[in-house]
Amino acid sequence: MKTVGEWLQSAEGSLQPGKGERSTPPKRPQDPNQARQHHRRRRNGPFRKFHGQQQSVPPKPGVQPQQIAAQGPRQGGLRIYPLGGFEQVGRNCTCIEVDGDIYMIDLGLEFPDEDMLGIDYLVPDISALKGKEHRIKAILFTHGHLDHIGAIQHLLPSLHFPQCYGTKLTMAMARKRLDEEGLTSKAKLTSVAYGEKIRIGKVEVEFLRVTHSIPDSAAIALHTPYGTLVHTGDFKFDLTPMNEPPADFQRFAELGKQGVLAIIADSTNAAKPGTSLSESQISDTIYDLIRDAEGRVIISTFSSLLNRTQQIVDHAKHFNRKVFISGRSMLTNVELAQNLGYLKAPRGLIRKVSPGMSKLPDKEVLIITTGSQGEENAGLARIGLGTHRQIIVKKGDTVILSSNPIIGNERAVMKVVNNLHLKGATVKTNAELALHTTGHGHRNDLLMMHRLVHAKHVIPEHGEPFMREAHAEIARDIGYQENQIHMLVNGEILEFDPQGNARKSKQKFTVNDVIIDGRGSASEGQRVLDDRKVMSEGGAIAVVFRAYSESKRLVGNPDVITRGLIYGSEQQEITGEVIEAAKKAYEDALGRGETDRKAFKRSVAGALYRYFDRKLDREPMIIPIIVEV
Ligand SMILES: [Zn+2]
Ligand SMILES: [Zn+2]
Repeated sequence: MKTVGEWLQSAEGSLQPGKGERSTPPKRPQDPNQARQHHRRRRNGPFRKFHGQQQSVPPKPGVQPQQIAAQGPRQGGLRIYPLGGFEQVGRNCTCIEVDGDIYMIDLGLEFPDEDMLGIDYLVPDISALKGKEHRIKAILFTHGHLDHIGAIQHLLPSLHFPQCYGTKLTMAMARKRLDEEGLTSKAKLTSVAYGEKIRIGKVEVEFLRVTHSIPDSAAIALHTPYGTLVHTGDFKFDLTPMNEPPADFQRFAELGKQGVLAIIADSTNAAKPGTSLSESQISDTIYDLIRDAEGRVIISTFSSLLNRTQQIVDHAKHFNRKVFISGRSMLTNVELAQNLGYLKAPRGLIRKVSPGMSKLPDKEVLIITTGSQGEENAGLARIGLGTHRQIIVKKGDTVILSSNPIIGNERAVMKVVNNLHLKGATVKTNAELALHTTGHGHRNDLLMMHRLVHAKHVIPEHGEPFMREAHAEIARDIGYQENQIHMLVNGEILEFDPQGNARKSKQKFTVNDVIIDGRGSASEGQRVLDDRKVMSEGGAIAVVFRAYSESKRLVGNPDVITRGLIYGSEQQEITGEVIEAAKKAYEDALGRGETDRKAFKRSVAGALYRYFDRKLDREPMIIPIIVEV
């Protein structure tokens, strides 16, 4: 049995160039900037997300099998390959191929790490599906969270708008995303009821009710000619959920009895022991806090946690408080949920925050706001800083954080909590009271799922490597053998033979990071990110040469422009030295008989790289520019 560390290493190994990841050997670094970036990338460690730039070299027959696979002919049989969500929590997208027909499950986004400067988010790399768009029979959506539907407006056009299916709320949220890009009229969205069976090509598809942290979440069963597949979606087994029935245990058990070939299952909380806390316990805690509050109550939570919002609204009504909503995503989701009947309240109870709010006695006010993750621009942070236009926190207010900081956000959340304390509010967090619970099942939830469905093969999904490994461990604990547990990474292909045995293919699709940056379209983003990182740490310097176009000789001294690199007091000295070093490097190259602009630039960049390394211990972005006169 492998330890997590060993597993990580072997997962890392499979991505190394020369083992099927790249279609051409990596280029030798040519200039110092590039050399440093290669070096950095190696240092990123096992959780490295970048697999290098996609090489656009055309495939040569017999040399690059994985590229052939991407464009190869229709293949019979059953294959499963993830394009996202198998190395991270985010950008979920799994493809199931049945005799060449493609069924996609989810099309989500991933929020970037802190070191991915300025990037809005990442989306699945769907280049493996290029040229096969006509074979995509459907995209099936498990639920309305952004890591499952968030890429729809960016990728649906490239996929040629295949049929999309999901439960009512999921499809409504997908439609909202498409509205933003004006794509709704082109999309084919179909709402499906739980338990309804729809035939799509050779496959009968069925949505099963599960509980999660957004209403209308579903697991999906695909009845294929090769056997039944179950994709759990994000789920937990809440035995006492609020405002909705529990998961469809009976149907899961029935499927298990009939025989399930493979289960693709949520791994997010596989490493957490026991059973996940029920939503009803959270409701009770919030009830008590509202009952005991003397002044206003301000609650921050996730805007998609609509069942919790319903609880808060019910409690507010019970204690004769009006509900005021703050924050764009909260307003959008509350409105959507009210229109579709997922949030029920008497007319006039729920309102938008407004100056009129202050006319009510404090004991009749309850505010629901976004910003539970400490996001700088969201409601709660601005309330804490005193920059919110309508909500000024004061002594006597009770602020409830009905959420947990996501990994990496702890510091930002603590800052907000401290600010609220300083302003005189009483702050309650999940650290002391049961104010939040996860939407993802713990170990016991997963055990229950596997006991019910009893699939022949287990494919852990939705998680970073350590989460999926913990999930594999659970499967081993209940008797699954190594040839029944399949640890795929994005792009790897699991193939089934007619006897129902599964094996990882030697072929693999190339899966890169595809970023969405501002209003820019999906594109390969590694170079952009590397540049931003270099500039954020070392600043930037541009050196502009003027040279005769014939002789290449310099006209006067180069101009030097720097940003974020040199302090005022050093300005003159360093600029002078940079001009000398740059000129010398240029003239040395000329003396060697170089005539190519690239050679001049390389020579200058190298010299300045060495200069700044020695002089300032800095590695700025160096941009030589040659203007011919
Ligand atoms: Zn989810
Ligand atoms: Zn998810």
